[in-house]
Formats: sequence, structure tokens, C-alpha cells
Amino acid sequence: MAAIEINQVSKIYTGDVHAVKSVNIDIQDGEFIVLVGPSGCGKSTLLRMVAGLEEISKGEVKIGKRVVNRVDPAERDIAMVFQNYALYPHMTVNENLAYGLRNRKTPKAEIDARVAEAARMLQLEAYLERKPRALSGGQRQRVAMGRAIVRKPAAFLFDEPLSNLDAKLRVSMRGEIKRLQHRLGTTSIYVTHDQLEAMTLADRLVVLNRGEIEQIGAPLDVYHTP
Ligand code: ADP
Ligand code: ADP
Repeated sequence: MAAIEINQVSKIYTGDVHAVKSVNIDIQDGEFIVLVGPSGCGKSTLLRMVAGLEEISKGEVKIGKRVVNRVDPAERDIAMVFQNYALYPHMTVNENLAYGLRNRKTPKAEIDARVAEAARMLQLEAYLERKPRALSGGQRQRVAMGRAIVRKPAAFLFDEPLSNLDAKLRVSMRGEIKRLQHRLGTTSIYVTHDQLEAMTLADRLVVLNRGEIEQIGAPLDVYHTP
């Protein structure tokens, strides 16, 4: 696990779009940070800069003690969960869960143990031999989370992971993420536009507006400010 430091980070897209403006966030080891704010405020851009999917225009991001501006996404020791699941359709659940570890040449016994543990945690044991198309939306999202968990990353990055699910499933998956958070205690940055999700999950909320931090604090403090 690791702390994450976002120091004076800016993103300027071509065409002079200032998407993120000198943002500072010190994220403690094990802290769950939720980024909220109106569409276009820069949440996704900020998350993608931490992930390494978007170049940082100014400032620096540190994961653990390491400045990662020039480090490849795959070398950052983070795992990202997307709203579109990003599962491999031709692979079974078992193969989807194991894929990232196989790529990293993890020994087979270790892969089997981690996949079994993740499947147990996420109630996927009965579905291990199915392909994604034979799963419900909630089950697919569990597999996507399982793929992140088996890696045992220093941090999780979530990009609106529940926004494709219907309202009822969102509530139950919200509870599930909360449970995993308690159990694993992994540093997390979670982007959502769902206020209840933000309230339920956040140790600290960061409200972005036009690329800048408007408020930062415990959920009750932030949402009770007039
Ligand atoms: P959010 O995730 O909060 O909806 P984004 O980070 O997606 O916001 O976008 C922030 C701003 O940057 C918006 O004005 C958006 O139009 C702009 N933007 C996002 N991606 C690009 C891109 N690849 N090129 C140019 N502008 C972009
Ligand atoms: P690995 O398990 O080695 O991370 P992946 O195939 O999961 O390999 O992802 C490779 C890279 O592509 C990662 O940096 C990941 O963050 C990014 N990536 C994977 N799926 C998506 C997606 N749906 N949208 C954007 N980026 C993605």
C-alpha cells in the first residue's frame, strides 16, 4: 500500500483547455478519496493522470515515495476499475481474473490462490467457468473488481465504476465496495457523480469545479456547508 501525493498538478489539453489547475491532494496510506463535481470539472482527467493514461502537463504525482510522471501505467503498482468493465469477452471469469497475473509471470500456485480468494470475496465462485456475456451487469462489475484485487496493487483507481448499473444494483455494489474497503484498506481514488456513493464511501471528499478544488474534507462537513 502507499500514500499518493498530487502536487501542483495541471492539465492543459491542446487548444488551451485548462482541464486541471494546480491541484494539491495529499492522500494518506489506506485513505479512500472520492472526487466529485459537475460534468467537465476535470475528475476523469485527474484520475487518468494518476493512472498514467494522460500526460501530466505541470506538477508531479507520487505513488509511495516515487515520482511517477514518467512511469508507464503498468509499472505504477495501481489497478483501475472502469465503468465499461473492460473484460475480455472470449475468456472465462477465471481467465479474466488470472490474465494480469499471468502476464506478470506470477507462479501458477500463487495465481490460483489469489483468484480463489478474490472469487470468494466477490461471490463469484459459481461463475468461474462462464464467459462475461453470460453474466449480469453486477457480476461483470464484480469480475472487473476482482481483476484489480488479484493484483494486490498499492492503490485502486475507480472511474465511475457503478454508473452503468441500475439503481438497485448500484446500492448493493456500493455496499460491496464499502466492505472491500474495510477488508483490504487499500488507498483508493474514486470518481463519481452520485452523491450517495460519495457520502457512503469517502474518508475525504474532493469537490472539483472548473479544474480547481472547491472543497475538501469529511463528507458531512462538505455536504453541510451552505
Ligand atoms: P469530468 O471527468 O469531470 O467530466 P473531464 O476530466 O472529462 O471532466 O474533462 C475536463 C475538461 O477537459 C472538459 O472541459 C473536457 O471537455 C476537457 N477534455 C477532456 N478530455 C479532453 C481531450 N482529450 N482533449 C481536449 N479536451 C479534453
Ligand atoms: P494490465 O492488467 O497489465 O493492467 P490491462 O489490459 O488491464 O492490463 O490494461 C492495460 C492498460 O490499459 C492499463 O494501463 C489500463 O489502465 C488501460 N485500460 C484497460 N482497460 C481500459 C479501458 N476500458 N479504458 C481505458 N483504459 C483502459
